[in-house]
Amino acid sequence: MENLKKELLTELSQCTKCKFCLTSCPLYKGWIREGATGKLQAMYYALKYDLPLDNSLRDMIFACTTCSSCQKTCENYSTGVKSVLAIEKARRILVNKGIGPTPQEKKFANHIEREFNPYMELHVKRLDWLPRQERSFLPKRAEYLYFVGCTSSYRQIKIAQDSVNVLKRIGLDFTILQDEWCCGSPLLRTGQWDFVIKLAQHNISEIKKTGAHTVIFSCAGCYRAFNKDYTSDYHDFLKSDYDFKTLHMTGLLEDALRTKKLELKNSDKTITYHDPCHLGLHLSIYDTPRNVLKYLPGTRFVELPKNRENSVCCGAGGGYRASFPDSSIDVSVNRIKEAEEISADILASACPFCWRNLSDAVNNLKSKVQIKDIIELVAENIR
Ligand code: SF4
Ligand code: SF4
Repeated sequence: MENLKKELLTELSQCTKCKFCLTSCPLYKGWIREGATGKLQAMYYALKYDLPLDNSLRDMIFACTTCSSCQKTCENYSTGVKSVLAIEKARRILVNKGIGPTPQEKKFANHIEREFNPYMELHVKRLDWLPRQERSFLPKRAEYLYFVGCTSSYRQIKIAQDSVNVLKRIGLDFTILQDEWCCGSPLLRTGQWDFVIKLAQHNISEIKKTGAHTVIFSCAGCYRAFNKDYTSDYHDFLKSDYDFKTLHMTGLLEDALRTKKLELKNSDKTITYHDPCHLGLHLSIYDTPRNVLKYLPGTRFVELPKNRENSVCCGAGGGYRASFPDSSIDVSVNRIKEAEEISADILASACPFCWRNLSDAVNNLKSKVQIKDIIELVAENIR
């Protein structure tokens, strides 16, 4: 923990207090504490001068979606502070001192340790979205593995079902883990790191048993966890090496459409795209999902006013939806209003977590904008 504190102090001392990051923060409404620089400075002074760590500091540090807009702004216009990792490390320190996380985040962490999902569901029900006869015929070994993730397994099950239908249609030799566990993203984002090693090791070892050379993800959060958290030097403590390739579903769809393994029928809709933070700002995947949408004949594709690097979060990530539900939906409401301004019929995304928050915002606003994951759009329009 002392090393982590030193690393964090070094990172935090690079903030020049220019406040540029506030301009892109979806939660900033005029108080410096709402944006990255306020959080970073509060943590810096608390650690440097051994100030008491209390719940008001906790509420400041945990009120963040870890979307990375501030980090991108800082990289582009200032000193390049790695603000998301700094906020996650600050959360880690607060958790270690017993000050964090928020009560809601503690609750889902406890459940992940028992049932390997954050949704208060039973692990034995994880594959219930798949018809029973298909479950028993899942091959033990295959070339590809579809990693479903907790949100599509228990909440947005249509995304999981559509994914399987499309993979079959492409003719892929694939399987699904009988014993898939949470990827650990909710714990990583909220500073609750201890159990993540067990989750990562379990998932990697189960995947290796299938012999799959490529793992496909329909969840941007799981994809980010495997690509950044599990492998790189992003988190020293994880370093869970694996030798299979990873592919987000949109990459697979783009390839299948280019090679005509899939062909789509006329959609005749105006479609726009919301960049999930975990694909866009975190992994710089901007073109692939847009390329897939362009294969829908008759589609008019229009960009949201805030897109790509300037995109804004749906408001759900980093534990924010669990801890601050009303404010989380407000962020999504703004996104739906943007989609309405450009007269989009469909707001597409590529993450089940975005789907959920954006759909709740549509219901709140009684908007006519339809929220669709790209896999749903493809599944519904196959010729
Ligand atoms: S943009 Fe970077 S350097 Fe400027 S205040 Fe924000 S975090 Fe600090
Ligand atoms: S990660 Fe997103 S929500 Fe958090 S401080 Fe930065 S811009 Fe704001």
